[in-house]
Amino acid sequence: MIEREFSQSKLNLFLKVTARRPDGYHELETLFLPLPYPADVITVDYDGAPGIRVTSSLPGLPENLENLAGRAALAYAEAAGILPSWTIHIEKVIPVAAGMGGGSSDAGAVLRRLNGHFKALPENELARLALTLGADVPFFLYPHVSVATGVGEVFRPVEGMVSPPPLLVVNPNFPVSAKWAYTHLDPARIGNGDREKLEKLLRGLREGDAAMVAGNLHNDLAFALYEKFPLLRMLRDTMKEAGALNAEITGSGPTLYAVCETVEIRRQVAQRVRERFAKETATVFENIPLSPIK
Ligand code: ATP
Repeated sequence: MIEREFSQSKLNLFLKVTARRPDGYHELETLFLPLPYPADVITVDYDGAPGIRVTSSLPGLPENLENLAGRAALAYAEAAGILPSWTIHIEKVIPVAAGMGGGSSDAGAVLRRLNGHFKALPENELARLALTLGADVPFFLYPHVSVATGVGEVFRPVEGMVSPPPLLVVNPNFPVSAKWAYTHLDPARIGNGDREKLEKLLRGLREGDAAMVAGNLHNDLAFALYEKFPLLRMLRDTMKEAGALNAEITGSGPTLYAVCETVEIRRQVAQRVRERFAKETATVFENIPLSPIK
């Protein structure tokens, strides 16, 4: 038997680093927005040889138990007391090491699918298991617009969302590790503040006010990325010059997203990016659905 599961990506429309802990981890206040596109497609074949195998459509992506999806499957099998004979394949669409949560999402999707199939663990146990795999994995179990605090693992779902404004995602085709982004964060930025900005951003999302959303984006990790990689400044400026209300980096980067007033403007912005930057330099994800977000 083969089952299929979608593995969504995410954007952080707001990311404030509030503290650096003695163990080196950073505490955050961040807004997670799940995106139905780009998304990976995961298939689980339950009738394979004993063991867990993970393959993907992307050469070079870690396989088997080195892939976070494989580690999730193993953790599930152990927690549920099941002898696995699973072959998992990932059709990789979410850019890797891009600030879009791809690995965490694949892990969350595998846990969701396996528990949907076997129904062996209660929800709280599944969430606990997810957290052992990474701070963002619980979010991806059941993606929902959320404000996360702690190291990103404490989620408060945001209710009353309407449709998001038209969004465009542009990935410069190079990876940045989250470790790099946090290591190069200017310590002077760490601290509380910008609460008002987050409140306005949430209001903008609730009221469907694209300008209010665009005017209150924030990412503490973006500054070092713009300085190190001029291409990111060029992409941001191109999108703004082409008519986007604003553009910013998501998470630990280097992917950027633009907030546009209308779908027509989004089309123009996408076209300008494609004209200025070869497809080897930047991948444009334009068809992000406008359907209401949860
Ligand atoms: P985040 O936004 O959560 O920081 P990211 O987009 O920056 O995530 P990922 O795409 O999750 O980063 O990849 C981080 C690293 O994890 C990659 O270098 C990759 O080798 C490894 N990895 C393991 N499993 C996966 C997977 N299923 N998908 C993507 N990367 C994976």
